[in-house]
Amino acid sequence: MITRISADKLPELLRRISEQEKLYIPVDKSEKVSVYEEYAPGKVMSTKLNTLRSAKDFFFPQVQPMAKFRMEGKKIEVIDTRRESEDYCIFGVRACDVRSFDVLDRVFLADPVDTFYENRRKHATVVSFACSEPSETCFCHSFGIDAAKPAGDARMWMANDTIYLEGISEKGKALLEKLDLAALDAVTDEKAEKDVEAEQRRVHEIQKKMPLYSLTPADNREKELEIFHSPIWKELSDKCLGCGSCTFVCPTCQCFDIEDFDSGHGVERYRCWDSCMYKDFTMMAAGTPRKTQLERFRQRFMHKLVYYPIRNDGMYSCVGCGRCLRRCPIHMNIVKVMKAMEEDAQCETKN
Ligand code: SF4
Ligand code: SF4
Repeated sequence: MITRISADKLPELLRRISEQEKLYIPVDKSEKVSVYEEYAPGKVMSTKLNTLRSAKDFFFPQVQPMAKFRMEGKKIEVIDTRRESEDYCIFGVRACDVRSFDVLDRVFLADPVDTFYENRRKHATVVSFACSEPSETCFCHSFGIDAAKPAGDARMWMANDTIYLEGISEKGKALLEKLDLAALDAVTDEKAEKDVEAEQRRVHEIQKKMPLYSLTPADNREKELEIFHSPIWKELSDKCLGCGSCTFVCPTCQCFDIEDFDSGHGVERYRCWDSCMYKDFTMMAAGTPRKTQLERFRQRFMHKLVYYPIRNDGMYSCVGCGRCLRRCPIHMNIVKVMKAMEEDAQCETKN
């Protein structure tokens, strides 16, 4: 059931959501950059394709306090700093980032459940936003994601000066029901369905003309494990600076470190994002298990394209958002890796 509303009612729609729960929307910060911010009257929702940092920050923030310790002599008191999150809505999440939540769920909600992540995840209502103008750096299609029909608790399309809304989960439907859309002259009819179908067809036609449309990840898992020993990794990783930018903008990267900070009034334990591209990543008393940048580089891409799908019913740990294509200072990225893996597999077959 799809409901249509005039697009000029978007500010009022956002205001009504913010009356129900805390609301976060993407807002423009410059010509090219948008970020998520808490909604306030007057803030305009960005229609850019991707926020600079992905929406994973809501569930897995860059810095997460975990506990405090108060010490008196030899006595140590452990203070649990966890608090139940309030309900909140993340509005305007693109299809690729919504899929990234599935990827993260399989890591953080698997036994043993990460209660910090679970707390933020279960209180969120995700309203996704279908893409109308996919960019040349997008390749979500390669991983079976439909940019014109995103998942989430509810989804929105914007076309023909009209907003189209559809509830998906019980949580999403309940939120839409609370908004009294009838008062915004909303109409739920066959025209809304037909308009959305036409919009989806239009977007799919655009995607077919995109340079990365035919990019596909290899899916012969046994063969892919053999690629671990391929010479492609040397050439691909040679120029990698190990800066970690690709991991920090990636919506599916989930590595973290846990550290203790002595504030002078006690010790605070927190976790923060880490990067498998760093040479001190997973450092142990005996040293680091991956001593060269080649090994670290290979690990990142083998994990996304081979190890993760092997363990997760074929689901890839890349969603084709294109952020790493735009951020890497040496223009290395997962697309180049996928193409090299494909070429390597074809050479092997010929030999
Ligand atoms: S690897 Fe690159 S394209 Fe894939 S999800 Fe991460 S940032 Fe996006
Ligand atoms: S952004 Fe580029 S240079 Fe930096 S770690 Fe990633 S692949 Fe290497």
